[in-house]
Amino acid sequence: MTTRATPALESMLRSLIREIPNFPKPGIDFKDITPLLADAVAFRRATEAMAEPFAQDGITHVVGIESRGFILAAPIAQQLGAGFIPVRKPGKLPHTVERIDYALEYGVDALEMHRDSLQWGHRVLVVDDVLATGGTAKATCNLIELAGAQLVGCSVLLALTALPGLVRLRDRRVHTVLRF
Ligand code: AMP
Repeated sequence: MTTRATPALESMLRSLIREIPNFPKPGIDFKDITPLLADAVAFRRATEAMAEPFAQDGITHVVGIESRGFILAAPIAQQLGAGFIPVRKPGKLPHTVERIDYALEYGVDALEMHRDSLQWGHRVLVVDDVLATGGTAKATCNLIELAGAQLVGCSVLLALTALPGLVRLRDRRVHTVLRF
């Protein structure tokens, strides 16, 4: 399921996303959300639009993906009356972790979550800023299910439609506010 923001909200949010060509490396068109975060109304409306489709889903925990996912996930967790759980790059979390390795275009990467943060019966929403190839979000969904919790869906601020993220996550419930 994909729900879109109203056209007026979408165009307001879109105007606050800055595109930086060839950052952090040649060929990447980086979507910089810092102007949106710096605008009090846009920041609030963006997180409301990301949370709203899941308001009736009994979400108990919102998982934020390091690092821009944290910024969006924390207010969404509070709006949904849920707790916040960080998923981080390896070596950052201090307690015992569950780890998942996943393939990048060239090589592999990994994500970690505290092993005791989720359990059976928890209903989880995954949040990130950008869905590109989908590798990060897919690995995070798998990590949540490895922990025995129920993955309700994913909410991202924007999806890059030239890349396969939406297709790779088609068996999941994915909500995107904007598409580029
Ligand atoms: P992916 O695993 O390819 O879907 O990449 C998603 C992760 O990489 C997210 O955590 C994003 O923050 C980041 N990311 C990927 N592509 C971009 C982009 N073009 N602009 C900004 N962030 C990106």
